[in-house]
Amino acid sequence: MTSHDQIAERKMQFLYALRSKGVTDTRVLGAMEKIDRGPFIRGYFSDRAYEDMPLPIACGQTISQPSVVGLMTQALKLSPRDKVLEVGTGSGYQAAILSQLARRVYTVDRHRRLVHEASQIFRSMDLTNITALTADGSFGLPDQAPFDRIIVTAAAEDPPGPLLAQLKIGGIMVVPVGQSDAVQSLIRVTRSEDGFDYDELRPVRFVPLVEGLGRDTA
Ligand code: SAH
Repeated sequence: MTSHDQIAERKMQFLYALRSKGVTDTRVLGAMEKIDRGPFIRGYFSDRAYEDMPLPIACGQTISQPSVVGLMTQALKLSPRDKVLEVGTGSGYQAAILSQLARRVYTVDRHRRLVHEASQIFRSMDLTNITALTADGSFGLPDQAPFDRIIVTAAAEDPPGPLLAQLKIGGIMVVPVGQSDAVQSLIRVTRSEDGFDYDELRPVRFVPLVEGLGRDTA
């Protein structure tokens, strides 16, 4: 096979794995077909970019499993007018997927290095509707609040209060909840006029949401 065929074959398998794990929304699948996961993984593990597994990235963090990225994106029920906050930029891959389905994406990470590297990839892919910032996302992003959608890609013991407060009425937040070293539950929070509704979606495993800035940053 030529390398062109190999790439096409890998891509097909990648999309097949997503579908078989429940990512069925055609807009989400379209975004995941378009955004190449390869550039978000540097070094040793880069040739495993198209496998459905989480992989290590810099600063001791991980890029999430593609099917989990797909399921979380699907659970957000994005509309093209939405302003979205992501807490936990990591590699930037999830933010890049969101950028295809929303109007504006703000993504924050406590590690300056990750924000810097992700921003470079966004620029090289011409993803101009993403703003990546170094910040402690447990406090949200008050300057840009409120948000139509919030996605947290690190596990908290409870959905952080400031994030709930920065969600618009009618807004949706997806967040893994539970102890960091145990299996956590992915929760969808929907804000109505009267308060918050909680839906438990599936078991997941994420790195913990940590307060304060990273040691490379503070
Ligand atoms: N969404 C990422 C994966 C995130 S891994 C991707 O697509 O690759 C979780 C990230 O959350 C890590 O990069 C970690 O640094 C970040 N994080 C943990 N606690 C945080 C906090 N309080 N504020 C901002 N980022 C945080």
